[in-house]
Amino acid sequence: MSGTKVVAPENRTVIGLTFGNSNSSVAYTADDKAEVIANEDGDRQIPTILSYVDGDEYYGQQAKAFLIRNPNNTVAFFRDFLGKDFEHIDPTHNHASAHPKDVDGVVSFTVKEKAEEDAEPSTLSASEVATRYLRRLVGAASGYLGKQVTSAVITVPTNFNEKQKAALIAAANAADLEVLQLISDPVAAALAYDARPEAQVEDKIVVVAELGGTVSDVAVVASRGGMYTVLATAHDYEFNGIALDKILMDHFAKEFLKRNPSAKDPRENARSLAKLRFEAEATKRALSIGTNASFSVESLSDGIDYASTINRLRYETLSRSVFEGINRLVESVIKKAGLDVLDVDEVILSGGTAHTPRIATNFSNIFPQTTRILAPSTNAFAINPSELGARGAALQASLIQEYEADDIDQSTHAAVTTVAHITNAIGVVSLNAAGEEIFVPIVPAETAVPARRTIHIAAPKDGGNVLVKFVEGNTHIKVTQPEPKPKEDKSAKVEDAADSDEDSDFSDDEEDEEEKREKVWKIGNTLAEAAVRDVKKGGKVEVTVQVNADLSVILTTREVGSKGGVRGQLSA
Ligand code: ATP
Repeated sequence: MSGTKVVAPENRTVIGLTFGNSNSSVAYTADDKAEVIANEDGDRQIPTILSYVDGDEYYGQQAKAFLIRNPNNTVAFFRDFLGKDFEHIDPTHNHASAHPKDVDGVVSFTVKEKAEEDAEPSTLSASEVATRYLRRLVGAASGYLGKQVTSAVITVPTNFNEKQKAALIAAANAADLEVLQLISDPVAAALAYDARPEAQVEDKIVVVAELGGTVSDVAVVASRGGMYTVLATAHDYEFNGIALDKILMDHFAKEFLKRNPSAKDPRENARSLAKLRFEAEATKRALSIGTNASFSVESLSDGIDYASTINRLRYETLSRSVFEGINRLVESVIKKAGLDVLDVDEVILSGGTAHTPRIATNFSNIFPQTTRILAPSTNAFAINPSELGARGAALQASLIQEYEADDIDQSTHAAVTTVAHITNAIGVVSLNAAGEEIFVPIVPAETAVPARRTIHIAAPKDGGNVLVKFVEGNTHIKVTQPEPKPKEDKSAKVEDAADSDEDSDFSDDEEDEEEKREKVWKIGNTLAEAAVRDVKKGGKVEVTVQVNADLSVILTTREVGSKGGVRGQLSA
């Protein structure tokens, strides 16, 4: 699916693009490093908003500011309407800006885009709004790069359907932008991390928590030999950045009314509400960096100025239900993938809301210590979560830019998102030091196929015949209950509790020793057995497992350094 706008590889200037409901970003690569580009206003996260004022078109942060003074001619939260009929859209977030309307089933907005007093307002389809907005992004990027941007890799949520993808491509093409490829948001985030020079491309299970303004999307991704397979996803429209804004808006509105009992509730007047929203979001962002933040609005309601502060702990307490919702979302998607938190090697926090320190700390408590939590507050080497998507897309764009458009569709480049994969690990049975049979994985579960892996196993000390038993392997979680503790002195305990309960908003510092959970391999079905005869003293046996694209398996074993060997094929 590449659209109508096609550019010859030698004429391309490529970018990576995220086009969110709330914000968009553009990145490019230079010397294999991806950089996010600032627009004319110096913004790298560019609000996905267009506004028309006195005949001029504004976009980004400037358009966002017009949500207070000129909401009716300001179009926000339109990305999700691409490729949808009017009857299937959710206009929840559009009540404070131009309202979507039904024009023969096409989602449209009516805005006054001309300066003349008596000019008729224009009705623009959501696609037209998207095209105009994308044109502004491309214009800013072209200005920055000093040459016309022609082509892009664009990220999309994992639940974007074919119709939405086609509509996005058409809107981009209409903005004179060739779409090289659409890649899914979590894969873009994983690419951004894996492309770092210090990254080790290892087989791993990654959870990408993409936490935006209107949606929280979580995906479990298997990364095997540089190929990514999305194993499971979950989407939530309740526990998001806007919910956090709302909590602060309510908090400050109530405080304002307490101080000014006779004033009108700022939430009951559209303009006051817009001011409250704008400032609440700024306060929320400040709380991601500092432990205290101020909130100040001129003429909030009834002409009364209002200023206040809030500390992070208070904010976290108020927002607890949202944070817990995000935790549950993450846990549910891991379960959906048939995995356990112990299977997860890495958690990537992506999207604006992923800056929130408490969300990352909560994840540290859900996952074992061996899981890397990649967020600014938990890892000094974390990449800015707001930049991951655009960076990943830019890296992918630079990888595929020299291909003809037709070839890109068929390419099996790194970001192919749905590829066949094996469900169980394949390996051999070996003996551990205690003489018990153990499973030695060769091809891990969720490996994208075709795949071929080889290991060497040592023959018995004195050589001889080596029996190689090929089996499938599954992991399961072994739970060991803690040893019961001797009873403590009760009176001491009561005092302790009284002391510490006061300020403890979260009970994550569990004192009790927890049960021990570990991942252990279980030997599954036997696939084949092979004997390698007369192995030399101190010799080694090479074992290769090849899984073909049709999931048939070829197993080979031979003594290292010798010719021949045993080969067997199993059908899928
Ligand atoms: P969506 O498509 O879900 O609406 P998006 O991908 O377009 O989101 P993002 O920029 O990823 O947009 O996320 C926007 C949200 O992130 C907003 O709610 C914004 O307030 C929030 N946000 C941005 N920066 C921070 C920060 N530093 N701390 C906390 N929240 C932040």
